[in-house]
Amino acid sequence: MIGQIVRANSFRYTVNCGGQRCDCVVRGIIKRQDELYVGDYVEFERTKGQRYGVITAVKPRRNLLIRPYVSNSDIVLIVIATVPETDFLLVDKLIINCHIENIRPVIVLNKSDLEGCAALETKVRSEYGGIVDICVVSAETGRGLEELKALISGQVAVLAGQSAVGKSALLNALTDSQISEVGELSARIERGKNTTRNITMISKGDLNIVDTCGFSSFSFPDLRPERLAYYYDDFAEYADKCRFRSCTHNAEPECAVKAAVEEGRIARQRYDRYLVLLEELSSDNKKKD
Ligand code: GDP
Ligand code: ZN
Repeated sequence: MIGQIVRANSFRYTVNCGGQRCDCVVRGIIKRQDELYVGDYVEFERTKGQRYGVITAVKPRRNLLIRPYVSNSDIVLIVIATVPETDFLLVDKLIINCHIENIRPVIVLNKSDLEGCAALETKVRSEYGGIVDICVVSAETGRGLEELKALISGQVAVLAGQSAVGKSALLNALTDSQISEVGELSARIERGKNTTRNITMISKGDLNIVDTCGFSSFSFPDLRPERLAYYYDDFAEYADKCRFRSCTHNAEPECAVKAAVEEGRIARQRYDRYLVLLEELSSDNKKKD
């Protein structure tokens, strides 16, 4: 039988096969070769009278997010809110990671019922408008949720973002989760502990949403500094015009990206964060060399 892993908890997996769920363990041979993730399509066997099915093989993955660990996803919902204050460096990192893995990023501005939303929305639109879709919602009042549902319908969407921005509240509001289903997430109690290995996909109608614990730090693996700008869609039209083909838009002369920042065509704060990430990657690479 073939199914999709919808829950991973240590070495126990729940596999969904046509709406039927089966708790599975993994045959030793693939356990050693390959980790399994929520989102993976797997082959599994079920023997009558046995409590657990056995996963025997994993299908090739379309993509893999490592923070949170989810495979074969279509959309990452980058949730931000008026409180807590947005870590835009994290937002940028998540967007870059989406581009690397070929997943669509969407910025979800939650808690729009609170004061301060308009200012945050203005900032977000000025920095990300045209390069990332932006949804303004409130898990509390329901504002924007129908649009968000339409956007993620039929896809696998992953909730990402800082703690306390309202990811759980959104998950509940979007899927009308019952208390028992929420309890099943189990992450609630363990939040704050290392729960990166405890991930669940909640399905309701056409919606498939993966919730994870919040995280505040995040780094992406193995990216050469000179490749970073490649993932900035807002730099692309200028980057072609830099004097040097390998321009990292930092200290090089005749840099069209820097010129665009000076002219206000690229948001300065986003560019400044780019320099922070560039520096982070450069020092990572030095460590490796
Ligand atoms: P998570 O850590 O990202 O999963 O965040 P939670 O879902 O636990 O929400 C954190 C806090 O924000 C809780 O106290 C929620 O009640 C509150 N919250 C979530 N969504 C909204 C919203 O749309 N409006 C308001 N006013 N509060 C919200
Ligand atoms: Zn340049």
